[in-house]
Amino acid sequence: MPYVKKLNEAFARILKSHGIATANRLHRTLRNFVVHPKDKVRDEEKTELIYCVPCKNCSRSYVGETGRKFGPRIKEHKKEVDSFTAGTQTRASRARESSVTHKSAITDHAMKENHVINWDKAKVVDREAQRQTRWIKEALWIRKTPMCMNRDAGSHQLSHTWDQVISRSRAPSSCKQSRRDQDVRRTSKRCH
Ligand SMILES: [Zn+2]
Repeated sequence: MPYVKKLNEAFARILKSHGIATANRLHRTLRNFVVHPKDKVRDEEKTELIYCVPCKNCSRSYVGETGRKFGPRIKEHKKEVDSFTAGTQTRASRARESSVTHKSAITDHAMKENHVINWDKAKVVDREAQRQTRWIKEALWIRKTPMCMNRDAGSHQLSHTWDQVISRSRAPSSCKQSRRDQDVRRTSKRCH
């Protein structure tokens, strides 16, 4: 029977006294049918996007782009970071490793600063199917993220004529982006 708090327990007791066993099922409302617990699960399946990964120990974030699924991409980053920061290294080998430029700027940051990356807070900040445009958006995100751990400006060499546009838009802190920002971007894209 559908689960209604308190009422069910009382009803079950009555039925039990008559030798009838009951089983509850969650009441299916329109809300729990339509609203999903969190977009997180669905984010992992998303492709063609810009993402942002913050650090747990400081306010720096990493900005990246991928055409592939978000979930596996983040796992790749994590695997790389873990392989260098497994804790099995001595101080000397850690120092030696940190002098080498690693594959990803996240790994560099975690190693050099001895910081922990906040994988749980990694999120999709923008979507773009067209690869060249996605690179431009990545470069925009890198430039407008105040504390960015990226070593370079991204795959696209962004012209400094964008600086005025970027400075006029609200700079995100730790990957935060308001719904309004996303809407503005979508609107401006349609205008081209
Ligand atoms: Zn940090």
